Amino acid sequence: MNPILNLARPDILSLQPYQHAAWEPTLERLHANEMPWRADGDASHAGLNRYPEPQPDELIEHLARLYGTSPKNVIAGRGSDEGIDLLVRAFCRAGEDSVLICPPTFGMYKVSARIQGAGVIEVPLLKERGFELDVQGVLAAWRENVKLVFICTPNNPTGNLLDRASIEVLCAQLSNKSLIVVDEAYIEFANIPSMVQDLERFPNLVILRTLSKAYALAGARCGALIAHEDIISLLTRVITPYALPTHTIDSVLHLTDDEHVAESKKRIELILTERARVCEGLASLPLIREVWPSHANFILVDCNDADAVLRAALSAGLIIRDPRSQPGLGSSLRISIGTPDQNDRLIRGVAQASGVPA
Ligand code: PMP
Repeated sequence: MNPILNLARPDILSLQPYQHAAWEPTLERLHANEMPWRADGDASHAGLNRYPEPQPDELIEHLARLYGTSPKNVIAGRGSDEGIDLLVRAFCRAGEDSVLICPPTFGMYKVSARIQGAGVIEVPLLKERGFELDVQGVLAAWRENVKLVFICTPNNPTGNLLDRASIEVLCAQLSNKSLIVVDEAYIEFANIPSMVQDLERFPNLVILRTLSKAYALAGARCGALIAHEDIISLLTRVITPYALPTHTIDSVLHLTDDEHVAESKKRIELILTERARVCEGLASLPLIREVWPSHANFILVDCNDADAVLRAALSAGLIIRDPRSQPGLGSSLRISIGTPDQNDRLIRGVAQASGVPA
């Protein structure tokens, strides 16, 4: 057994999981209290009158291929949001355990922890060094009750990559002490290898991948959590019995086949070209103080007047993200890269609001 499981909640380790209806596709199903007929107009492959296969073999094998790992190391859920939630519920005892996060970062790590009644220790990224990971700060702040350390790279909302060697230091220094959860939601835009390759070296490493970004499937709600097989088995006990809807399973299998992966690569190239254009277009405008370098499909900008930039975007019919309540982001906005036309309207709108002729 992976010794990291000693960190799991004891009541989850000893839990008798729900026994879902056995998956026996060769037999006719009179064991799940379903209707024997489809609803009129139900054109789904498996029939929506039937509960879906829990953790479908075909989907798990497909995701494992997509992400370069083995099916035994994958659990699929409703977005990586569900992966985060599963980890917090399986590892953090309410009122006792904590997660460690490095703000400014993705908001759900903290929200999931709070919902579970877990503590949140914050070790801010070093803004003066381009939002670099403060490895020594993390190690100094670590306490025995820290079960999960969340690292997001490229980081949302700052867009930068966190130093790989530093993440490896955390995995090594905190082996058997904490899970290091590396959220790679935006890695397809960064052109670097995934840390999936390091799973064998670090049994406490967990990787989160999502189909919501590069594969344009945010509405399908599907993400993969990749980890040592013992961690996957534990989380399988916690996830709801039929977590993935039939439509999601069908859509993901179809819309991430080889043809769609090739299409996604082309679209990523366009996003990267557009990202460079938006960065350049905004950087010289008086309302913008700084455009932070990005390895994701969004950029973070520091503004001289963020309200004016928000208003300019709104007048162009565009909504951008206001993360100013996060530490270090008092004058920042986050802008997703859109179509060339949307990006043109954004640059033109901010230029006009800056008093610069478009
Ligand atoms: N991680 C990061 C860093 C994100 O930005 C997001 C969504 N914005 C998620 C995870 C969750 O994505 P999903 O649940 O759609 O997979």
